[in-house]
Amino acid sequence: MRQIAIYGKGGIGKSTTTQNLVAALAEEGKKVMLVGCDPKADSTRLILHGMSKTTVLDTMRRVEEEDLVLSDLMFTGYRGIRTVESGGPEPGVGCAGRGIVTAINQLERLGAYGQDLDYVFYDVLGDVVCGGFAMPIREGKAREIYIVCSGEMMSLYAANNICKGISRYAASGKTSLGGLICNSRLVDNERQLVEEFASMLNTRLIYFLPRDNMVQRAECNRQTVIEFAPEASQAEEYRKLAREIDGNRQFTVPTPISAENLESLLMRHMTVPQDPCQAGN
Ligand code: ADP
Ligand code: MG
Repeated sequence: MRQIAIYGKGGIGKSTTTQNLVAALAEEGKKVMLVGCDPKADSTRLILHGMSKTTVLDTMRRVEEEDLVLSDLMFTGYRGIRTVESGGPEPGVGCAGRGIVTAINQLERLGAYGQDLDYVFYDVLGDVVCGGFAMPIREGKAREIYIVCSGEMMSLYAANNICKGISRYAASGKTSLGGLICNSRLVDNERQLVEEFASMLNTRLIYFLPRDNMVQRAECNRQTVIEFAPEASQAEEYRKLAREIDGNRQFTVPTPISAENLESLLMRHMTVPQDPCQAGN
């Protein structure tokens, strides 16, 4: 069983990409569990065809621990994919990472990590690598990490910060980085920019996903592109990503870069005029 954590800035496309990726793996007959580790609890919506009925934290507020059964926490969606949402505290109260810790502990206790599973994916909010959000890697649950980013500065900034967190745990040999997934935002020179960024971080760009409105069409229908439009080119992109990850054997300890190096990298790849105030005049 491979346990994989997907990190990245909020809104970058982690949940969309992860769900399409697991749908593509399920199409190939893989047995997958997807654990949403974001207080938004929307990591499994496209697999379940609607928001999850409940989250681990919500259920644990209602049900005594000794009465809990796995079917209270885990729901099955598209092609038998097993899903869990860790949930979060009431907004503004408590640690948002606690849901992840609780969810993983309960899943282990209730035997969710079955022998038949090929993959467990953790879809983790990565703006803040606080103790709770680092849980899947800190405890050595997820031994592989991929970071979703784009060529936009803030997503690279977040990816670099995530690498700082990973390098701390990777040094102890528990976990390592499998690569960056670029989810395109149509930034100038985006592929080359992210490739160079990846090599500075001692990793590689494992896949470049195009931006495609088919993603939104499928999302409105509460489905992955894989399910909604299996013949679409974007579905094929997600299948190729799945093949890359399935076959990946290249893992590294990332080397985060300085803010100055990140800024000069961005400057080198910009094709707009030097003085943006002059642009279009
Ligand atoms: P995150 O989980 O990182 O917060 P989401 O997966 O929820 O981000 O994605 C945010 C939005 O971006 C979604 O509404 C989704 O439709 C859109 N999106 C993600 N990937 C793509 C893509 N490749 N092409 C077009 N839209 C995308
Ligand atoms: Mg998400």
